Amino acid sequence: MSLKINKRIIFTYSIFIVIIAYLLYSNSNLEKNNSTNNNTYNGKKAKYVFYFIGDGMGIPQVNAAEAYLAANSDIIGIKELNISHFPAQALFTTYAENRYITGSAAAATALATGHKTTINTISMDGSRQRPLKTIAEIAKDNGMKVGIITSVSIDHATPACFYAHQPLRSKYYEIGIDLANSNFDFFGGGGFKSPAGKNNKKINSIELAKKNGYKYVNTKEDFNKLNNSSGKVIAVSPILANGKALRYAIDQNKDDITLADFTSKAIEVLDNEKGFFLMVEGGKIDWACHANDAATVIHEVIDFDAAVGKAIDFYKKHPKETSIVVVGDHETGGLTIGFAGTKYESSFKLINNQKVSFEGFNKILSKYKKNHNKSNAKFSDILALLKENFGLGNKNLELSEYELFRLKEAFNQSINKKNIKPKNIHENTYLLYGGYEPITVTATHILNQKAGIAWTTYSHTGTPIPVRVMGVGQNVFKGYFDNTDIPKKMLNIMGIKQKLSEK
Ligand SMILES: [Zn+2]
Repeated sequence: MSLKINKRIIFTYSIFIVIIAYLLYSNSNLEKNNSTNNNTYNGKKAKYVFYFIGDGMGIPQVNAAEAYLAANSDIIGIKELNISHFPAQALFTTYAENRYITGSAAAATALATGHKTTINTISMDGSRQRPLKTIAEIAKDNGMKVGIITSVSIDHATPACFYAHQPLRSKYYEIGIDLANSNFDFFGGGGFKSPAGKNNKKINSIELAKKNGYKYVNTKEDFNKLNNSSGKVIAVSPILANGKALRYAIDQNKDDITLADFTSKAIEVLDNEKGFFLMVEGGKIDWACHANDAATVIHEVIDFDAAVGKAIDFYKKHPKETSIVVVGDHETGGLTIGFAGTKYESSFKLINNQKVSFEGFNKILSKYKKNHNKSNAKFSDILALLKENFGLGNKNLELSEYELFRLKEAFNQSINKKNIKPKNIHENTYLLYGGYEPITVTATHILNQKAGIAWTTYSHTGTPIPVRVMGVGQNVFKGYFDNTDIPKKMLNIMGIKQKLSEK
């Protein structure tokens, strides 16, 4: 009898131990998979890889766009963007080698090469001596076609970090030469900032690209004709705004080629049996954030999200072979939802009153300033322009005495500078206007604040940034890691053994 009981106890005990052992084992496995710096991937490789970078796009930029879309449907909450549907989402740090708050060159170097570098360096090590191999170059080495798209100039820091190696982001001419020699398959978006170099005697980088076999198009007609047999392509928007960039989405009309158009066209040109790697940058989210212009930011985010939509359409046709990775490089502006003056209230619909970007309104002001001098420029004229373009002074946007005072000060600063005492106003002037057109930035501040949206800086911030992933290898993006982990994870998902290292 007692032997029977003992056997039963031993048996029960053994089962118990087996269960505990299994739980411990599976828990350790769970920890392994959730490890924040585990970049390994052993599944089926991604043949088509999209890398979307929203410059200056942190959590608040996306959230502001979602809240704005919801408000326009009279919903309290959010209307999700394409990127918000992505099944895998994680957070990463962005600091540079020599500064906590990063810049676009150091951030894009990390995102392209898996290495930290110093501020303003383009895919070289921090001492600016050794070039660093980029994920796009490795994709090309491994037989994939490669495309680079941006809404700013094609030689700007973020796109440059995928094909160029230069000690400084300001070396636009040299970056253009690197582009011409890259042998990548598709470049699209904005133009070249310095194709001929400073003294105009150097070889033109666009001409060199043509010599190297690129087809260069800059009309909508030629752009539309591009197809899978076009060969190597450089496609520049026929309409360029300041900085050789595409116009802000809020200022675009049917004549513009949008970021989504460039993305669709690149997919058409690049599609081939060996797969492709396509980087798409929404570069003007950052610019509009620097200028503290929420309406323009929101339209840029929606425009960027529409470009991601084109990749999702492609993914739906090739779900087992496609990976879409969406990141920001850093946050810009210290944007947040909530403002001291509106306490717990928000009215995102008020953003609809803005008709042009800050850049568009600057043009309107320049025209006014051209036709008026200090003696005949009137504050009431400016108020009329503000009403027309920002709705300020309308029934739902009545200006308080304090807001009128701020606009009058900005008017004095912009047009009638004699009223300003520069000695003691310098710091205050920077905090108020950040080097931007005083009237314009005051107008966007007032409109944004009335909507319940506020800014803390005209520069970048150091907050962590989300990565959103859909498709092959999405589960590798879990937890909290560093920006340098992202290209390492992507290379593993692409099934490429070649390591990110010095060139
Ligand atoms: Zn920036």
